[in-house]
Amino acid sequence: MTIQAITQPTAQLSNSQLMLADLEKVLITEEQIEERVKELAKEISNLYDPDEEITVISIINGAILFTADLVRNLPGQVRIDCIRVSSYEDETSPVNGPKISSTLTLDLANRHVLLVDDIIDTGNTISKVYQYVLDMDPASIRTAVLLEKKARRKVAFEIDLVGFQIPDEFVVGYGLDYAQRYRNLRCIGVLKTEQQQGN
Ligand code: 5GP
Ligand code: MG
Repeated sequence: MTIQAITQPTAQLSNSQLMLADLEKVLITEEQIEERVKELAKEISNLYDPDEEITVISIINGAILFTADLVRNLPGQVRIDCIRVSSYEDETSPVNGPKISSTLTLDLANRHVLLVDDIIDTGNTISKVYQYVLDMDPASIRTAVLLEKKARRKVAFEIDLVGFQIPDEFVVGYGLDYAQRYRNLRCIGVLKTEQQQGN
């Protein structure tokens, strides 16, 4: 960025401000997310010995932003890998079952694994990845999700660390998308119904 760009007064709206107009309501503000992510990182670090390395597995794309902020608040060594699971296409309800479409590159045998996802809804996605990781003989597996919707749970699955409980509404922002958009919104909110139609 040039000095001129920094000093120029800007009348431009941020991308968040523009996307806010598409929301029916904000459920969780940027500040609330930031504060809770820091608390979660503390809770996580209390679960491990200080010298224990954590292998963080991020379920992408949804968990990208949450993972990035979470790991930067963890005090010790972490390794990061990603797994891609598709369950929601461009719709607001699940199609078929979740599919692991891109797998891990790190070896997890005897490692302490922390599975990170944006949201648990039916429980299908995280339980599928949990089983997949379990088959790789890790020393331990723990799970952290930013959001939990209890209302539509289909699989009995206890998450170790949950950021926020939310009502049964389709949310976007902070990694969560609608038709691949709104992931870069800094808060989490419910889209207006008229925004849930076109692509
Ligand atoms: P589950 O398999 O537990 O039903 O759903 C988990 C996945 O579905 C999440 O990783 C997320 O990608 C997607 N999902 C569930 N609820 C919502 C929601 O309200 N908004 C968005 N954008 N994605 C959701
Ligand atoms: Mg997801």
